Amino acid sequence: MATGLGYRLLEKLGINALARVVNRGRYVVIMYHGVCDDDFDLLVGYDERHIRVSVFRQQLEHLKRCGYRFLSLNDMVSEITNGTPRGGVVLTFDDGFRNIVKNAYPLLSTYGAKGVFYLIADRLNGDEVVWTDYVETIVRSNTSKSLELMIGSVKYQYDLSSRHNVEQAMRDIKRRVRVLPQKEMVETINRLMSIPVDIVPIEFKLTSVEEASALDPEVLDIGCHTRSHLNLPGLDAERLRAETEHARVELEKSMGRCIRHFCYPAGAYDDAAVEAVRDAGFVSAVTTEVNLCDGSVDVFKIPRVYANEDMYWFKAVTSGSYFWASRVKQFVRGLLRADANGGNA
Ligand SMILES: [Zn+2]
Repeated sequence: MATGLGYRLLEKLGINALARVVNRGRYVVIMYHGVCDDDFDLLVGYDERHIRVSVFRQQLEHLKRCGYRFLSLNDMVSEITNGTPRGGVVLTFDDGFRNIVKNAYPLLSTYGAKGVFYLIADRLNGDEVVWTDYVETIVRSNTSKSLELMIGSVKYQYDLSSRHNVEQAMRDIKRRVRVLPQKEMVETINRLMSIPVDIVPIEFKLTSVEEASALDPEVLDIGCHTRSHLNLPGLDAERLRAETEHARVELEKSMGRCIRHFCYPAGAYDDAAVEAVRDAGFVSAVTTEVNLCDGSVDVFKIPRVYANEDMYWFKAVTSGSYFWASRVKQFVRGLLRADANGGNA
């Protein structure tokens, strides 16, 4: 079920409530990126990485009202490895945005929620930006209504004359960069990051060592999101070690605490990446596969559900009704296909 109307129906028909009862013993690991000030002009429909703080509050409110158990990732991993899974909600925040410290962290304490803040080890001077947000800044700050960019070895021309086109352009640029081979991707990202912009919005800035190390680890633990935010598959052994083990050691030194949890950039992993993460001394790793998890989950391939600003989506995916609806949809499609084939025979 991929439409807003579908998610709304799941709530109105009580399917979400039923799914919450059925899935009570499972874990819901929620993926967030930035939690922005309410007056920040979010370009929606772009990749839904960031949400506004009032929406984040509504989501915590919803989880609390529904009686979800909030727990730390440490506790979740211990329960799974001890064979005593109890289910509950863990919040995760990728990339290390400053606004998580400012906007999300105080609300976690208010609601008793817990989470992990996944930091990129060499992006902690308080002024760093990840490339996806830099692309957004380039597009936002362009005043000439059109933009020419080299992505890989191809030149693309984007029309930026309407908000719709701006959002389309950002989606397209990011999609094209992400499918490039690693070397070309790095070159393209470096080239994009060297395009001058007037000002990068504060909402896109990453946190600093000082800010992050002051967080209470019982509320928001620090996790590792590699050293330089490279996708792990395809890296040679030395680079893989730098992005996992060395990143962990550097983060431990700068944060002054034990770093136990890892997050794969872009959710990308292969067997070598999983092995490197395990060998580096981490006890868990999260992916971007969309699912709830139960006691049988591989703690180095933990699936998550992502939050955007649509509360009906949030309720459907956290309750697990979304997965039921997807299965029904697939089943019906299969029936229709079989029927069509039969009709043709
Ligand atoms: Zn990331």
